[in-house]
Amino acid sequence: MKRKDISGLQNKISRIADILDETLGVPIRPQADSKPLDMLIATILSQNTNDKNSFRAYTQLRKQFPSWKKVAEASVQSIASAIKSGGMANQKSRRIKEVLQNVRVRFGGYSLEILNKKSNDEVMEILLAFNGVGAKTAACVLLFSLKREVFPVDTHIHRIAGRLGISGKSRTPDESFAALNKIVPDGKAYSFHTNLIRFGRKICRATNPLCGSCPLFRECEFNQKQFYKKKSLPECSDREYNFMILDNVG
Ligand code: SF4
Repeated sequence: MKRKDISGLQNKISRIADILDETLGVPIRPQADSKPLDMLIATILSQNTNDKNSFRAYTQLRKQFPSWKKVAEASVQSIASAIKSGGMANQKSRRIKEVLQNVRVRFGGYSLEILNKKSNDEVMEILLAFNGVGAKTAACVLLFSLKREVFPVDTHIHRIAGRLGISGKSRTPDESFAALNKIVPDGKAYSFHTNLIRFGRKICRATNPLCGSCPLFRECEFNQKQFYKKKSLPECSDREYNFMILDNVG
């Protein structure tokens, strides 16, 4: 991409981020630190479900097993039983057990604190080597636990970025991840990511987006935006819209 195009996209992202801050508020990072291994397991649990259900599954898993060692030694069935509220329990329990066993083999214990000393690229390489860990999960560990300037892209952010025209010709979340991480302005990764997730829940939903009342209507390149005139969602508390499991891991 040409330098001029990159700076045009960066300006557009800055305008969008400012509008989202004004509309939805500036997200505040939680004070408490979260361990990288806790974050990795929580992110695996959050795949293909909503934050409320995955948080319930994470809380139940921690309550039922006093340590990650106990989880690694438990049967797949008993892990699945603990995390059933998060959906896809059989698949996720196998994945979690395997990841924990691989962490112990590679690092000699149930901890990923060593990632604090690694570069972003090294962290990505280490985490992507685990079965079932993709770019989005690894990027969440980087952003939410290691507090790096990395911008995770899930299916929701991929959809919204495509509609807004800020992710080029990206066809998958991983392609959007590569494109957006070159242009999201420094210092904006956490707030922009968080507000795009909130925005996707409240306004730019997968089906029936509320284009009729969208604060980003003028910035948006979605070619069907004129047809979506609905203006409001059923009542739902801000807490419910804003709750993010990865802000509550600890
Ligand atoms: S105008 Fe519609 S499609 Fe575009 S960002 Fe807003 S809600 Fe999403």
